[in-house]
Amino acid sequence: MQEFPITRAASLKPKPDPKTLVFGRSFSDHMFVMNYDTEKGWHNGRIVPYGPFELDPSAMVLHYAQEVFEGMKAYRTPDGGVQLFRPMENALRLQSSCERLCIPAIDPQTVVDAITQLVKVEADWVPSEPDTSLYIRPFVIATDPALGVHASHTYIFAVICCPVGAYYKEGINPVRIYVEDEDVRAVRGGTGYTKCGGNYAASIRAGERAEEKGYAQVLWLDGVERKYIEEVGSMNVMFQVDGTVITPKLTGSVLPGITRKSCIELIKSWGIPVEERLITAQELFDAAEAGKLDEAWGTGTAAVVSPIGEMGWEGKHITVSGGKIGTLTQKLYDTLTGIQWGKIPDEHGWTVRVC
Ligand SMILES: *Cc1c(COP(=O)(O)O)cnc(C)c1O
Repeated sequence: MQEFPITRAASLKPKPDPKTLVFGRSFSDHMFVMNYDTEKGWHNGRIVPYGPFELDPSAMVLHYAQEVFEGMKAYRTPDGGVQLFRPMENALRLQSSCERLCIPAIDPQTVVDAITQLVKVEADWVPSEPDTSLYIRPFVIATDPALGVHASHTYIFAVICCPVGAYYKEGINPVRIYVEDEDVRAVRGGTGYTKCGGNYAASIRAGERAEEKGYAQVLWLDGVERKYIEEVGSMNVMFQVDGTVITPKLTGSVLPGITRKSCIELIKSWGIPVEERLITAQELFDAAEAGKLDEAWGTGTAAVVSPIGEMGWEGKHITVSGGKIGTLTQKLYDTLTGIQWGKIPDEHGWTVRVC
């Protein structure tokens, strides 16, 4: 493994109470930073005390959003160790996002090494209360001080960490979702398959509108025909219809989630058929009316799986699984979280021990 120099923080911060952790508010003592310029390429990878960057007000990321990121977690195992879940998948997706945003690729093994070493330094920040974890946010920003629209010649790659509490504090409650028919999140040929900040900026309005109407999340339709289902909020989405699991195929406007991929692999290993294909909102509402929509859920690193209890579209309302979490959704949640927190054997070789 590549070793990076470490500059230790002069004083360590008090750890927040693991029982009242709020997502993304308190950050650990150190961060990983690496620089890019055209002469040296990616260089000077290092672990340093967590702190502000100095950025020129004309830095390109602030104006044209040339930026990509990742999201993953480090988990505390029952024997007191710390492990990651499929970190190479995140490094490869970061590479694909960089390629789309004209950011020079970072060697995926270097990304995994940086994350592994940082988590080792910050091991005390991985909480051990049930269902808590250390959220890891790798990101790359364009730093050229220039307002012309072209690819930057300088970048910063950094990794920061924050302890996060249990996602479901009051048990897993299915959410109400709203099929968004005005705004779109992404289009084919755009950046939908990448994790870039711009996608999120464009999605905020629909999310706020859905909340005003009393829904928890937006169900996104495709940007061209406005009839195919793509994602739910910032999660991938799956349905069980008449026994078969269906999920939108990766057309270019859907984010290739690692939880999605893991769910597909698990479901297939249980002998349940999975179809990755185009799914219209009409098909789903028809299936619900025919009593064939068994279960619906979102998938993503933050919530793992998030059951959908109700869907609204063009004035119609459907209830899924009687508004309760379905059997398959529960089994996916138990299996994935069991593997991630090291409570059940990892037969797929998905976990990577850090310490
Ligand atoms: C990150 C993300 C997901 C989920 O990906 P995971 O790798 O499972 O965490 C799904 N949709 C969008 C838009 C995302 O940004």
